[in-house]
Amino acid sequence: MHTPSQAVVIGGGISGLSCAYGLRQLGIPVLLLEQASRVGGVIESVEQDGFLFELGPQSFSPTDTLLEIIAALGLSDALLRADPRAPRYILKSKRLQPVPMSPPALLTTSLLSASAKWRLLTEAFRRTRPPAEDESVADFVRRKFGVELLETLVAPFVSGVYAGDPEKLSLRSAFPTAHQWELKFGSVIRGAMKSRAPKQKPRPSLCSFRDGMAALCRALGLHMGDALRCGVSATSISRSKADGKSSFELRVSHHGRAEVLTAQAVIVTTDPHSARRLLASVSPRFGSTLAQIGFAPVAVVAAGYRREQIGHPANGFGFLVPRSEGLRLLGSVWNSSLFPGRAPEGTVCFTCFAGGATDPELCLLSEDQIADIVTGELAGVLKINGPPVTRLVRRYPRALPQYNLGHGKIMAAFSDLVASVPGLFLTGNYLEGPSIGACVEQGFRAAHSVRRYLTSTDEASREATV
Ligand SMILES: Cc1cc2nc3c(=O)[nH]c(=O)nc-3n(C[C@H](O)[C@H](O)[C@H](O)COP(=O)(O)OP(=O)(O)OC[C@H]3O[C@@H](n4cnc5c(N)ncnc54)[C@H](O)[C@@H]3O)c2cc1C
Repeated sequence: MHTPSQAVVIGGGISGLSCAYGLRQLGIPVLLLEQASRVGGVIESVEQDGFLFELGPQSFSPTDTLLEIIAALGLSDALLRADPRAPRYILKSKRLQPVPMSPPALLTTSLLSASAKWRLLTEAFRRTRPPAEDESVADFVRRKFGVELLETLVAPFVSGVYAGDPEKLSLRSAFPTAHQWELKFGSVIRGAMKSRAPKQKPRPSLCSFRDGMAALCRALGLHMGDALRCGVSATSISRSKADGKSSFELRVSHHGRAEVLTAQAVIVTTDPHSARRLLASVSPRFGSTLAQIGFAPVAVVAAGYRREQIGHPANGFGFLVPRSEGLRLLGSVWNSSLFPGRAPEGTVCFTCFAGGATDPELCLLSEDQIADIVTGELAGVLKINGPPVTRLVRRYPRALPQYNLGHGKIMAAFSDLVASVPGLFLTGNYLEGPSIGACVEQGFRAAHSVRRYLTSTDEASREATV
């Protein structure tokens, strides 16, 4: 048996890395276990045939905490910011049309009919109160803005963020700000105007790194030094006592070799499916609670082309596809237009997404079948001649957590359950937001909770021995 660690973090995705980093900043000795041979979880940048492909997240919104970590890790010079004015497109009637990003653009866009524009622009004058019960994103948008806005703009946006189904997603869990604005101001537009950042603050732009998104995780992993153990899979957690204090025993497997570790605090940052297995012996209630959290499967197809193959300029962020267009493609990010160094001279690269909560069967197809469907549909949209020069496919059976109707109640039951096991903490993208920024904030909050717990148990045991 190993010497007891104060804290063991299980899972080296961005949630676990940021929690372990936060614990070190707070002066708490920590061990971070990751089952794969690399850290990052779904954050994965791969070089292939001179292209830099992103197989998970494509970019992130820089929060203050993220920018502080990036500076502390010496990564500021490698940070790339996308042009905030880069146009985004929606496919409508088989044509890419720019998403209106300002009130004048909204007036002139051909994406929406005159009546849909009128309903949107006058929403500020129709004060409403949200219903007492949980409401779906689709019901909310139909009630406030009408069905056209839902189908043309909101549903594609929802698939871009959650790969989700707006009929199932809970507004207050998935988009709490919109719910709060209606609650506080009676109107989403009024809420957005009142909450606008002061003029001098530059508009936040999407970021990545010179060497891709994985650079942040690699740097966080290096910062951990010997406290990071890759290739180590936690197999079970059980409660025990060490030196009269409540603690945990962790069974782990390293290249097929079993080991037992002990820790005063354990922070589980894996996906809920793995967490259920790990926590089965702590309480069977974890299984039933975590099983209620749904996930959407997503297929990612990254593809590189010679510039002359593409009939569309493809300058901008990329495009989203409303379901009414009859494609299986959910959207595409134009990586080489957003950030430098993604494609060799004279070539371009795109990342496409398909599947999601509205087309889960797609991810059951083979990688080649998915790539053929997706690149075929992309070719139609961007007028591409011939197959990609190189491509890479990744299927995620559980890509993104679905904050569906009832998520708030599941989370309340979940917090009570976690609180009933002193020294156990859980954090991850299924709790309070799936974005990288949200995962980092949650990881830091978990680190602070661990410190409070360890300080209070130390004080209690000191008092007990006086
Ligand atoms: C396709 C895709 C596109 C996305 N696009 C964006 C985007 O553009 N911008 C954005 O902000 N967010 C995006 N997201 C969301 C964001 O990337 C994720 O929510 C976030 O990275 C999840 O991090 P995590 O650490 O919570 O989970 P994960 O990345 O899943 O990490 C969990 C880790 O736990 C490890 N693990 C599991 N079980 C064990 C075990 N028993 N023992 C040890 N280790 C274990 C896993 O190997 C994994 O490394 C995207 C997500 C996906 C899937």
